[in-house]
Amino acid sequence: MDSIGHYINGARVAGTSGRTADVFNPATGEVQAQVALAGKAELDRAVADAAAAQPAWGATNPQKRARVMMEFVRLLNRDMDKLAEALSREHGKTLPDAKGDVQRGLEVVEFCIGAPHLLKGEFTDSAGPGIDMYSMRQPLGVVAGITPFNFPAMIPMWKMAPALACGNAFILKPSERDPSVPLMLAELLSEAGLPDGVLQVVNGDKEAVDAILDNETIQAVGFVGSTPIAAYIYARGCANGKRVQCFGGAKNHMIVMPDADMDQAADALIGAGYGAAGERCMAISVAVPVGDETADRLIEKLVPRIEKLKVGPYTAGADVDYGPVVTAAAKEKILGLVQSGIDQGAELVVDGRDFSLQGYEDGFFVGPHLFDRVTPEMDIYRQEIFGPVLSCVRAPSYDAALALAMDHEYGNGTAIFTRDGDAARDFASRINIGMVGINVPIPVPLAYHTFGGWKKSGFGDLNQHGPDAFRFYTRTKTVTARWPSGLKDGGEFHFKAMD
Ligand code: NAD
Repeated sequence: MDSIGHYINGARVAGTSGRTADVFNPATGEVQAQVALAGKAELDRAVADAAAAQPAWGATNPQKRARVMMEFVRLLNRDMDKLAEALSREHGKTLPDAKGDVQRGLEVVEFCIGAPHLLKGEFTDSAGPGIDMYSMRQPLGVVAGITPFNFPAMIPMWKMAPALACGNAFILKPSERDPSVPLMLAELLSEAGLPDGVLQVVNGDKEAVDAILDNETIQAVGFVGSTPIAAYIYARGCANGKRVQCFGGAKNHMIVMPDADMDQAADALIGAGYGAAGERCMAISVAVPVGDETADRLIEKLVPRIEKLKVGPYTAGADVDYGPVVTAAAKEKILGLVQSGIDQGAELVVDGRDFSLQGYEDGFFVGPHLFDRVTPEMDIYRQEIFGPVLSCVRAPSYDAALALAMDHEYGNGTAIFTRDGDAARDFASRINIGMVGINVPIPVPLAYHTFGGWKKSGFGDLNQHGPDAFRFYTRTKTVTARWPSGLKDGGEFHFKAMD
């Protein structure tokens, strides 16, 4: 049985709290490792060491910090297969999907190579007589990131790469469900030249999270995970005077207009609804066909595609469409919600409840489900299921479809499938959701844009990655400078306009 500890001051270390959690192989249901759960004392020590290491890193010129990121990119590419295998083994997603997880993180590291440019301040020559004004972006000091299980490579990189490139020290508290890849990333950063102590990976659960939120040295916290925890972390972190951004859960709607290419829409829904077993915050979990005829055509296209889906372990090869969900508890929750859908009157068109895989009977596999005639008051519509369950809500008109997405409490992503540019434009302009796809089902913005949801999907005012991340992980200092020429003519006691 493997023991997974922490990464402190440039080396793997064992936990000392005496508390551990099981790490499963979701495909077999077996416990494959024990991960250490840090207590407050361990967290506080890691932060103190990071605080000691940060000033020298913050004073290193941004170009040199960018070179560490450049080398990190090379090492990520070198170890791509190894990282993807470790990721699939603990998360359960297919190998191509695991590589995508690493790749989408790597792209943010690439963006961070532009740190020297992104950190440039503003300058006004002669803001007043003999006066120049300029601003600097300075690192915050020690900052922290708390990340979810579903992207154990990508989201830690989204958090730590910009924070480090800005000159901060970073405390990463990854998900305790799949902790191996974040530790491998830390080793690669050390190999790339990051000084010891500047990145500390502290594994743990609520106890470590609370220690982060209450630690007075930590200046900012970036969180990604479910909405109730996001709300909790936002409130406690802000109450303790920290800068906090929290990204929460989702219920992403895809509107299918009567003029959409129905094959394209059905293909998109299969990938976006069932890929990664539905365990993506940008998964489409609600299809909204406009009009009954559109709905009938869509369901007719979806059913054979869903019945053909191959569910299996990542080791079974490239034709597996999706793997198991992350834990037995996740499987139980999903099947419980499926039962509630049946009880509350939705029509279960594809029933995956009896799915079982020979040789993997104890794995956490869930067969694909499709519900039709779902209504807004049902639990399967209101709650994030985070599993391979797609709900179809029939809307009588475009305005009704738009209102459904707008009235839902989550606002992470959404999409519209149509051939009508006017409808697409109206949708993108009016919808109160952070990321919008037009004939694109999973509109995850690339590294040089920013990612963030609205409503209960995002707390705080800046998005993650892209230029916003450089704003989040720095503070602005503005300097007004006068170098007098000629004779000094005494003090100035009035608050003066620059005229
Ligand atoms: P989660 O909220 O259970 O856990 C996220 C992190 O919070 C983990 O590090 C975990 O250890 C910690 N945590 C869990 N319970 C806690 C508690 N009571 N107190 C303090 N900390 C606690 O989320 P998850 O199951 O790991 O991830 C899935 C969720 O993340 C989904 O809701 C998904 O939509 C969301 N997600 C959102 C985005 C986004 O960008 N909006 C991206 C990925 C995932």
